[in-house]
Amino acid sequence: MSVRESAKPALAAPRVGVLALQGDFACHRASFAALGCDVGRVTLPADLEGLDALAMPGGESTTMLRLLVANRLYDPLAEFVRTKPVLATCAGVILLAREADLLPAPSFGVLDIGVDRNAYGRQIDSFHADLDAPVVGGTFHGVFIRAPRIRRVGAGVDIVARRTRTPADGAAAGEIVGVRAGRIVGLCFHPELTSDLRFHRWFLTEVAGLRLPAVESAVAVRRGAR
Ligand code: GLN
Repeated sequence: MSVRESAKPALAAPRVGVLALQGDFACHRASFAALGCDVGRVTLPADLEGLDALAMPGGESTTMLRLLVANRLYDPLAEFVRTKPVLATCAGVILLAREADLLPAPSFGVLDIGVDRNAYGRQIDSFHADLDAPVVGGTFHGVFIRAPRIRRVGAGVDIVARRTRTPADGAAAGEIVGVRAGRIVGLCFHPELTSDLRFHRWFLTEVAGLRLPAVESAVAVRRGAR
């Protein structure tokens, strides 16, 4: 083997941003870092530069919208979500939906769904439920915290997760809780609050088309992450 062949350059880690104005951004950051990504917080327009993908976390969508406007991030983010891969969870889904109720500024509308905010009740009504998610190989454990309910799904939107159809789930059995429209993924639950990385991995590799580095370099990237 020649020197050239043996000195293969290491695969560059995907650069993933996590919108970090408010909410559970730290958990998304940890999930992407565990998969070997170079993860950065996004709080200002310049933080979007050079990113391969973005996560929009759960939290409070009204607060996030106000902070997006205050930080002059609203317009740059609107442009980013029109062209780049985005994984949105819970409040993030609300921000991307075409129709969402009672927001202080328009949602970005790149995901052709309608959502009802806080449709399952208050914080104390948060719950866990088993999901059917064939894109990640089957059953997934869903954590729901003041989640929105998806009440309408547009023609170009694929369903990637539903509540399981067990009798225990009652009227909610089969409810749509995860969608994908091209580069955009919206999940009403919180995979970042579990140690199950399948949704983050699927988003990076299958949706965003990124290649993940080997585990050894993942450790190095995690150590160097800010
Ligand atoms: N209920 C919140 C909102 O309307 C979303 C909750 C969450 O992100 N876990 O923004």
